[in-house]
Amino acid sequence: MRGAVAIAVTLFFYISVAAAATDIPEPKIQPGYVPEEARDELGIWMELEDYERAIQRSALLIDDPYINAYVRDVTCRVAREYCADLRIYVIRNPYFNASMTANGIVQVWTGLLVRVSSEDELAAVLGHELAHYTQLHTLERLRKAKRDMTTGSVFDMGLLLLTGVSVPVGQMTALASLMSFSREHESEADLLGARFMADAGYDPNAAAEVWEKIVAEEARAVAKRKEPGLFSQTHPSSSDRIVDLDNFVNANYPDSQRDPLGQGRHVAMLNEYYMMLMEDQLDTNRFGRTEVMLERHRKIGVSEELVHFSMEKCIGNATKTVI
Ligand SMILES: [Zn+2]
Repeated sequence: MRGAVAIAVTLFFYISVAAAATDIPEPKIQPGYVPEEARDELGIWMELEDYERAIQRSALLIDDPYINAYVRDVTCRVAREYCADLRIYVIRNPYFNASMTANGIVQVWTGLLVRVSSEDELAAVLGHELAHYTQLHTLERLRKAKRDMTTGSVFDMGLLLLTGVSVPVGQMTALASLMSFSREHESEADLLGARFMADAGYDPNAAAEVWEKIVAEEARAVAKRKEPGLFSQTHPSSSDRIVDLDNFVNANYPDSQRDPLGQGRHVAMLNEYYMMLMEDQLDTNRFGRTEVMLERHRKIGVSEELVHFSMEKCIGNATKTVI
């Protein structure tokens, strides 16, 4: 949820909304952007700096150099000249989420790392979030949150979200809905995110694939009357968005190719840190979601031994829960 918080941004021109699926959106801010005259924006930046210090002190922050280097590499490849404006934090949290705040705090949760199948899919999510950043959508969301909230500050909310799994589900949902993006912002972030990916040499077709995966996971959760995940609450999605994205990519990047090494690099990272990355997921006791995830890991080449061990643990947890 915290990630959700951070997100936000921007102005009122929903250029891409109106944009037919074939128009390529342009970033609104340039690398090195800092707020100038808008005093409320500067205030939000200062609050976000307090929030960032809390992230840096968090016990949930992953400091492993290999994982951080991997996430930084993909982020900076997508962000290119914006990379110097971003600080990247990998957070232990089983939910699917990533975010970029208005002042450049990037959060990637472990729940995202274990759900994507390749570097291209990770790049798709990061490209989407980068677009929310460059279009100032996250700033707009934070402004709205401040207007809507009757108690507490953005900073307090950030801290609450930062605590991740310890936040009661009901509260998470309320906070997430507060921070959710509009349909217009989502559409714009989808198309510009695909452009960022393609410009970086990734396959933008991976974007629709990763959203389909998340939509399917949420549909299963809803069918079982389980709470929806954070990302789906802050990123309203629909099959229309996926169709629009497909049309956009087919029209603008018809010759995109997937680098097979991208999946290999992602699987190598999973194999190296699998139990640590999966521990929180296994502890959620969401057997159905975990089983689907494990089957996917097996398919993309995660070590059979690791997948098997996790499946046993998952089944064991489920049994204990029933009893
Ligand atoms: Zn979004």
